[in-house]
Amino acid sequence: AIRLVGLNKYYGQYHALRNVDLAISRGQRIVLCGPSGSGKSTLTRCMNLLERPESGKVEIEGVNILERSAAAAAALRRVGMVFQQFNLFPHKTILQNCVLAPLLVARQPTAIAEERALHFLDKVRIADQAHKYPSQLSGGQQQRAAIARALTMDPEILLFDEPTSALDPEMIKEVLDVMVALADEGRTMVCVTHEMGFARQVADRVLFMDEGSIVEDRDPQSFFEAPTTERARQFLSQLL
Ligand code: ATP
Ligand code: MG
Repeated sequence: AIRLVGLNKYYGQYHALRNVDLAISRGQRIVLCGPSGSGKSTLTRCMNLLERPESGKVEIEGVNILERSAAAAAALRRVGMVFQQFNLFPHKTILQNCVLAPLLVARQPTAIAEERALHFLDKVRIADQAHKYPSQLSGGQQQRAAIARALTMDPEILLFDEPTSALDPEMIKEVLDVMVALADEGRTMVCVTHEMGFARQVADRVLFMDEGSIVEDRDPQSFFEAPTTERARQFLSQLL
């Protein structure tokens, strides 16, 4: 579960998150959408402290991760993230990328970390690419590797920030298929995406952000059929 209370984030003078409150229960699948610059990445990145809000609370499984404590560090390790630009280490193989955190953070023995990494690479159907470097893979394969890497830490919460936006159209489906399969595994998922087919298929809730606030929070069907804000109506009409 994730709970944000009174979250404010500033970049200099710019008020990027405006007093955001949000509660996501365990296992919920959230799609977060909205115009460019509305604060989607900032909000998601606050959920794993890639951004530090100036005020408010970020509770992960009941622990405020803004407090510097052992419990906060442990809670933070329950959150995994997948980025638009994959963020794989270029000078490490796919397998090496996938064992890094298990070895260094979870302190797993090498043989076990490698076996688990291969299991997750197999799950995203690129076990045969394990010994290649990221640049030798297609974008879709690199993104699936990044998803496998996140899974190796057994995250209870998975954050995705536009995971398909950097991909050529023919590779989008292979990544979305993996995400759809993951959605059935009981993890809490927060996905920033404009893939509305995905939202319809898996989201329990669609959140729409505008100017640093969540202005709609609905089930997908009612969001798509009858958005309540003019801003969301405009946004949807541009997508379809
Ligand atoms: P996009 O759809 O383009 O990814 P977004 O909804 O993810 O947009 P954010 O990246 O969260 O938006 O940015 C929200 C606002 O904060 C934008 O106006 C952006 O310019 C500003 N911003 C984001 N990161 C920084 C930063 N590191 N320094 C200064 N301003 C920033
Ligand atoms: Mg963004």
